[in-house]
Amino acid sequence: MSTQYKNHPAGAKAFNKNPERVSWHDKALWFVREKRDKATHGIPEWEELREIAAQIKAHTLSHLDKYLLQFEEQAQANGIHVHWAKDAQEHNDIVLSILQKHNVKNVVKSKSMLTEECSLNPHLNQHDIDVVDTDLGERIVQLAKEHPSHIVLPAIHKKKEEVGELFHEHLNTEKGATDPTYLTRAAREHLRDKFLQADAAITGVNFAVAESGGFVVCTNEGNVDMGANLAPVHIACMGIEKIIPKVEHLGVFLRLLARSATGQAITTYSSHFHKPKGGKEMHIVLVDNGRTEQLSRDDFRKSLNCIRCGACMNTCPIYRRSGGHSYTYTIPGPIGSILSPGKDLKKHSSLPFASTLCGSCSDVCPVKIDIHTQLYKWRQIIMEETNYDPAKKLSMKMAGKAMGNPKLFKMISKVGNTFLKGPRVLIYNPLNTWGIKRELPVPTQTFDDWYKKNNS
Ligand code: SF4
Repeated sequence: MSTQYKNHPAGAKAFNKNPERVSWHDKALWFVREKRDKATHGIPEWEELREIAAQIKAHTLSHLDKYLLQFEEQAQANGIHVHWAKDAQEHNDIVLSILQKHNVKNVVKSKSMLTEECSLNPHLNQHDIDVVDTDLGERIVQLAKEHPSHIVLPAIHKKKEEVGELFHEHLNTEKGATDPTYLTRAAREHLRDKFLQADAAITGVNFAVAESGGFVVCTNEGNVDMGANLAPVHIACMGIEKIIPKVEHLGVFLRLLARSATGQAITTYSSHFHKPKGGKEMHIVLVDNGRTEQLSRDDFRKSLNCIRCGACMNTCPIYRRSGGHSYTYTIPGPIGSILSPGKDLKKHSSLPFASTLCGSCSDVCPVKIDIHTQLYKWRQIIMEETNYDPAKKLSMKMAGKAMGNPKLFKMISKVGNTFLKGPRVLIYNPLNTWGIKRELPVPTQTFDDWYKKNNS
């Protein structure tokens, strides 16, 4: 599933039409980033934990087949039905067939980016099955008929006033009410009914443990537990990269995830599932959907380490100022920009360029993904294999030629300096999109002159 814009610049431009929204979006996410910093600085072994997590992931990805089969065997022994889906269509068909077998009409779903990736909701709706997203942020975007704009904070782009209006329209709250506690209580009451009416619960999976055949889902709202414990059928959907070998590894990942995501020491609910309750059914769908292909790409396989904490989004200056809906892929931000080109290089060709390559994403990543290096590598592939932004391609070629020829470089520097001192309209005009929000300092000397002066 993708968003409505044809590329990232178009989406960013739309988001930037409202500077006030850009400003508070930026501040709200930076606040989360700061909370993350405080939480991580609180444990001296943070870097050690990151290293251990990265090594567990590297080992697991190298033996993915072994651990997935071990998980299947253990889960089946526990009484869980295990299904394999090679792509989104197969995933959706499997979920639908389970629901149809049980005559399910009402489903409660907890947050799962995988089901977003597979566009499960519209598929089930087409077959007359009602799906209610029960995570508060997800319910807000569902009522607004939008997609999540962030993987942990799906409605972060919405102001409380907008949520108030939405709830007034759909949940009958008082007109003009914006008090978060009042609105949350209204959502709670509304969702309580949905939980009681549900014939099945669908959840995501944060970690699946090969040695035990169990899995863990982390939430702050307890909606996973409400859904899975009340409904007679529980379907858990997981990407195959969510597997970890041992129960003892959970301690590493749970500590990293909560701190990186929201700055909490631990997620409010870390719900462990091992087997269905008496008289109930539990299914797990293991989904590939391009993951083994990504695994086969040496430069990009590490992207499968991702535990979906969202930290790379919160810290990214581009994400914070362009909003999650500006990305053409379900998972926005830096991690989405390295996962998506492998799925459709042409369609997502603008995403690896939605970065300053400052490296902050890689610095905060709890599983040590070299995100900015991968972004840079995708850029090279995109420039070679697609016709993305011919003007940029041409200007980069010309810059390469100029920088490879000292005489030419000196001459262009001099001409450029004179040009930059010329009439403003020659530089800051609609043709120069780079200059819309940026201003170059007036040059006082060429780089060559500066270099001679400072390095003699
Ligand atoms: S890439 Fe790293 S920082 Fe970004 S969501 Fe995944 S685990 Fe978190």
